Amino acid sequence: MSELKPCPFCGGTNICTEKGINLNYCDSCSAEANIEHWNTRPIEDDLRKRIVELVSSNMVMAKGVLDLKARIAELEEKQRWIPVSERLPEFNQDVTVIFYDGTISNGHFYESFDFVLEKNNGVYFDDRGRDPQIWHEAIAYWKYEDLPEVQE
Ligand SMILES: [Zn+2]
Repeated sequence: MSELKPCPFCGGTNICTEKGINLNYCDSCSAEANIEHWNTRPIEDDLRKRIVELVSSNMVMAKGVLDLKARIAELEEKQRWIPVSERLPEFNQDVTVIFYDGTISNGHFYESFDFVLEKNNGVYFDDRGRDPQIWHEAIAYWKYEDLPEVQE
């Protein structure tokens, strides 16, 4: 027989063998079993197998949580109000802006036609809208109006 497993009851490792009466017993707690049965641990084996399955499943879920956290952070970044002092929008995006006077307006940040923005139903920054100086003088924050399409 191969190496004897520790006692399933007390964990003792001093296992004695009495071949004459076909018996193994634990020297610590006197648990005993036939020699051919001592290393048989069906419940323990099933539990170990189940532990491996659960650990594996847990790792998959942990990865999923990390992926979701990354996605949430990505979406929060795209939806937050961005200070003009930090950066301006990318071209060809619909944006919403907050002026220093508190007015909120929508506009489109064109690459070729400059920024077109309506403020108080009539004031436009159309010719100079792409001039960062205009943004820094008048606008405090901006954010994308629609989130860009997500490539999966
Ligand atoms: Zn024992």
